[in-house]
Amino acid sequence: VNASELKKRLVQIVGAENVSTESVDLLCYSRDASENVGKPDIVVWPNNTSQVSEIMKLANELRVPVTPRGAGTCLSGGPVPARGGILLVMTRMNKILEVDIANLQVLVECGVVWQDLNNELMPYKLFLPPDPASKDACTIGGCMAECSGGIRAVKYGTFRDWTLGLQVVLPNGEVIETGAKTRKGVSGYDLTRLFIGSEGTLGIITRARLRIFPLPRHRLVMSAYFDSMESAGKAIFRVMTSDLIPSAAELMDKQTVEAVSKFMKMEFPECIALAIFEFDGSSLGEVKRRIRQARKLCEREKATRVDVSETVEESDRLWQARKSAGPALATLKPSSLHEDATVPTSRIPEMLTRIEQIAQKHNVLIPTFGHVGDGNLHPIILYDERNPDEKKRAEAATTDIFRAAIELGGTLSGEHGIGLSKAPFFSMEHSTQEIEIMRKIKNVLDPNNILNPGKIWAGA
Ligand SMILES: Cc1cc2nc3c(=O)[nH]c(=O)nc-3n(C[C@H](O)[C@H](O)[C@H](O)COP(=O)(O)OP(=O)(O)OC[C@H]3O[C@@H](n4cnc5c(N)ncnc54)[C@H](O)[C@@H]3O)c2cc1C
Repeated sequence: VNASELKKRLVQIVGAENVSTESVDLLCYSRDASENVGKPDIVVWPNNTSQVSEIMKLANELRVPVTPRGAGTCLSGGPVPARGGILLVMTRMNKILEVDIANLQVLVECGVVWQDLNNELMPYKLFLPPDPASKDACTIGGCMAECSGGIRAVKYGTFRDWTLGLQVVLPNGEVIETGAKTRKGVSGYDLTRLFIGSEGTLGIITRARLRIFPLPRHRLVMSAYFDSMESAGKAIFRVMTSDLIPSAAELMDKQTVEAVSKFMKMEFPECIALAIFEFDGSSLGEVKRRIRQARKLCEREKATRVDVSETVEESDRLWQARKSAGPALATLKPSSLHEDATVPTSRIPEMLTRIEQIAQKHNVLIPTFGHVGDGNLHPIILYDERNPDEKKRAEAATTDIFRAAIELGGTLSGEHGIGLSKAPFFSMEHSTQEIEIMRKIKNVLDPNNILNPGKIWAGA
């Protein structure tokens, strides 16, 4: 493609101020929060749906790849332009179009930041429950494309569970609306959920209609300390299979607790594992009763200490600490692989033990934390990419972690997506027939393979 022709045509669509070929922009938009790198040829910031549609028509005409991007917090390389071309930054489409209190729903543009939406809902005592730890930056479009989860997914589910409908620009530039305004709807195939979790490969989500929910009046947080990962895993399993229904059930291992403690300048008691539970509800007495029960279950699994946060500030500080786990661990080594292998709840203790064994076998550091209540672990494989031997061992350990998750009936990714990072392993989890159906769906919507090529399965 003639680069100056491409730029000229894009400027006609969005204006010169919304197009860049400056090397600093090409460099900044060549990465997400993972280890992947890929440079775009041109960066474009559309302002509305019709501009996105025109861009897709042009890209098809000139056969130029397009990679959509929100805030770039992805941990699997999804917004990294694997084959160059146009990098489409969706952050300027950031209007909250409707807050419909009567129907408990909102209509937002894809570039709205999660925290901005929730700040808007706060005065109404409403919220959007799935809450990725990247919430200060991540966009609704990115959350849709990854079907993000987060800490409260254990009780409230992921973005898939809160989406009523979407506006999508298809790879050929056509604009469609999926879903309905109603809370229920079984009218035809569920196209909304086809696009959710499709990692920006099937269409560009420009608007989303989301359900919202009353903020629970009370939330209490309990921290339980253990002297083995297995005991912590068993305690979490017990709480998850009781009728206590926590709104969060998180775990941090010793290395994570130490890193967070340094990073956040917070003191934690000595432990091998720290489990953090949150219980919410409209009656304080009821929330306290569930906390007492959960404490008993943890003590039965040999918790060495159990604390309940007395104030909202104390709870918030603990959540801030938990949410800083990734950045805190990233200070320990120059390179890291952030995984999110996920197993069924009953296999959590076994998976934790398997990760410890894998770290020993390959002699690499694998601190682990995560949304353990729903089996969603975040083993972080730390290494120094300047040391080829250590890099090799880190990659071998990662493969073993994926294999262990699959053997235990789990999945490669609970919430971060496959992207580039896990594409080579995709067939470990999915049959040839399944991948073939996915390929066919992709081909129907994007016959020229224009939209975010190279992602999800090897050779895409
Ligand atoms: C510190 C940290 C903590 C995190 N914690 C969590 C967590 O708790 N839970 C969780 O689930 N994830 C978490 N993540 C991962 C990440 O934040 C989420 O996947 C997030 O939803 C991505 O949003 P984004 O706007 O940054 O999207 P991007 O990273 O820009 O893009 C993500 C994917 O979406 C596609 N995309 C973006 N916008 C659109 C659009 N409008 N239409 C179609 N496709 C689009 C991109 O092509 C890409 O494939 C975390 C990441 C970091 C760095």
